[in-house]
Amino acid sequence: MRFIHVACFDDWRSEARGLLSDQIPPTEVHWSAEDDQLGLFDQIQEKAATEKETESRSGNTEPSTRFSVPTPFLDLAGHVACHQDPARWQLLYQTLWRIVHGERRLLEISTDDDVHLLQLMRKAVTRDVHKMKAFVRFRKIETEASAETYIAWHRPDHFIMRLAAPFFSRRFKGMSWTILTPHESAHWNQQQLTYGPGLPASEAPKSDALEDLWKTYYASIFNPARIKVDMMKREMPVRHWPTLPEATLIDDLIRDAPSRVNEMIENYEGFSKTAAHYLPIKQDLRSLQQAVSKCQACHLCNDATQAVFGVGPENARLVLVGEQPGDREDIEGEPFVGPAGELLNTSLHQAGIERREVYLTNVVKHFKFERRGKRRLHKKPDSREIYACRPWLESELAALRPKTVICLGATAAQALLGRDFRLSQQRGRIRMTEWSQQTIATWHPAAILRMPDKNRKREMVQQLIQDLKRGAEFSE
Ligand code: SF4
Repeated sequence: MRFIHVACFDDWRSEARGLLSDQIPPTEVHWSAEDDQLGLFDQIQEKAATEKETESRSGNTEPSTRFSVPTPFLDLAGHVACHQDPARWQLLYQTLWRIVHGERRLLEISTDDDVHLLQLMRKAVTRDVHKMKAFVRFRKIETEASAETYIAWHRPDHFIMRLAAPFFSRRFKGMSWTILTPHESAHWNQQQLTYGPGLPASEAPKSDALEDLWKTYYASIFNPARIKVDMMKREMPVRHWPTLPEATLIDDLIRDAPSRVNEMIENYEGFSKTAAHYLPIKQDLRSLQQAVSKCQACHLCNDATQAVFGVGPENARLVLVGEQPGDREDIEGEPFVGPAGELLNTSLHQAGIERREVYLTNVVKHFKFERRGKRRLHKKPDSREIYACRPWLESELAALRPKTVICLGATAAQALLGRDFRLSQQRGRIRMTEWSQQTIATWHPAAILRMPDKNRKREMVQQLIQDLKRGAEFSE
């Protein structure tokens, strides 16, 4: 039996490579991990420096390439290595052993016990990174040189600092900041990202002058009409509250929510004219679909044949949002079944996506058109109609909680990403929204069909396929 002690992914990788070279099966290896990550990181850095020196003396700077490991495994392993379960190293090695010993496509078998466990671990790590991005709150401190610097303390569940820190260096490029966690700290001096030992919460400042400003902002964006306490606690776990300035407001805001909703109804003239009035009490997809057929929140229901609600599985990880149903959709009662739907089907197919696994819907549920003789010509919905219909889309997304939302066209993009969104400039960029971890906007197939320039049309189709592919990758 070989006893191997590792603390980080690079360490595991070099040990695993050696073990595979020596043909040591997983049953003959005992892996152990160390809680004291810092000490081990130091040891590893020293070890790496020594190895580099030895390699450069022997003229061998390339690692062994006797084993080819599929890239998806390395990506998966890089995430799983950050999981706090000490069994991760064993699980990774036994999976790697199986892959290099004939099971090249093992990762595609999600029902396999090892693969399933690894996927659960990756999911937990990814979620933890997401929480860190959402809940780190910097507090300003003055250093001796009177330079402003910001410190935050956060307690992640896993060893994710190195996965999450690059996000903060991009987002807060012009600030000098430090993030402390119990296991590791990260420092950004506006040029370079470095890592150091973990530190207790007591090392971070408790409040600063920006805190009141932040609380005021939070109170102003808090929407009492959409409050769901259980979901809020799930999304903003209570263990993070001590470091969130806005958490001190939550009890008061929840207590005042009902009276604020009544106030909104009384004061906001347009409110009673939105679909919120028609939403069912139980907001699962089936109840929403039944309720939408009775919606009369705007005049579009007068001329259209029927309301066209979204279609797709309840557990869809990818949601595509278009503008409104077209002529064929209005008659058939299903989104994306007309010519634009055909182009979408082809594009989905070329992007390697099964249409039946995707949820398809529109921002506006009734067809808006203008009659020209016997023809009904599509007419773009205006902001009033989009606003009126928005509660249906919001409720669909809340029921689905997808990983990725792809907005097809400017109407969907502006509804979910803001009125300033410009598709021609911001197409394909990934944003996090309240609806999903990734929201991307791309061309609407109908807009591509209307494009008179053939070359441009071909280019737009390729861009649509590429954006669909990216969305599908992220929602894996
Ligand atoms: S378009 Fe939307 S808001 Fe208007 S009636 Fe139809 S479902 Fe209701």
